[in-house]
Amino acid sequence: MSEINAKVVIITGASSGLGEATAHRLAKSGAKLVLGARREERLKELTDAIVKQGGDAIYQVTDVTQRDQVEALAQAARDKYGRIDVLINNAGLMPLSPLDQVKVDEWDKMVDVNIKGVMYGIAAVLPTMREQKSGHVINLSSVAGHVVFPSAAVYCATKYAVKALSEGLRQESNGEIRSTNISPGAVDTELTTTISDKDTAEGVNELYKMAIDADAIARAIAFAIEQPADVDVNELIIRPTQQQ
Ligand code: NDP
Repeated sequence: MSEINAKVVIITGASSGLGEATAHRLAKSGAKLVLGARREERLKELTDAIVKQGGDAIYQVTDVTQRDQVEALAQAARDKYGRIDVLINNAGLMPLSPLDQVKVDEWDKMVDVNIKGVMYGIAAVLPTMREQKSGHVINLSSVAGHVVFPSAAVYCATKYAVKALSEGLRQESNGEIRSTNISPGAVDTELTTTISDKDTAEGVNELYKMAIDADAIARAIAFAIEQPADVDVNELIIRPTQQQ
């Protein structure tokens, strides 16, 4: 039996990109999925497709910037499946721009979704995982959580913060909770559509010509989950082979 089979897995930002690809991959391995994001239509389509293929999934409309909604997502998992084995903190935004443009609204959004959303996720599942004496939190950081790029200062700051949260959780795991920090390079998703600055968007679109498929990251996430309980995959960096 695969170590993924029958695990209860919550995925935030499941309505597109990495979250959606991960949902499909884990469903095929027998996970019980609880899918969250803001776009209900997309979540419903994904859930229906998984169930049609014999998988097990429910969805709950969730804005990760609203703590009560993240708590409700965790509650939906407990209500339906009675436990929470894995939380994948995947929801994120990347509206890149030079600091001189002072796009403070976009900075605020990145902090709210990329950092506070991850913190709210941890808050929503940690008491349950402590009670179970087991659990696994997988956070989506980025190559931008390891290296700072021009026009990406705030995005990088949020992804460095995610890496710090992953490492902090690992240090406080008490041998019960696994913590995995996933750092993708360029992956072909809708992420670049959040860039409002035209020049930055052009540069990023050039870089993303080499982008790899979202399933590459789903495979990395599945690898971390399927390890035996005494093995914690702490950090994975997955880049296109061509990416510097
Ligand atoms: P997408 O834009 O395709 O997906 C982002 C997801 O986040 C969507 O499902 C979106 O759903 C969700 N989301 C955005 N805001 C919120 C919110 N307030 N509440 C709940 N969900 C929200 O991008 P990716 O799949 O690429 O991004 C997934 C993660 O991977 C992000 O954290 C990103 O930073 C990270 N990453 C991606 C890389 C890439 O090259 N693609 C590289 C490195 C890291 P909805 O709009 O329906 O709420």
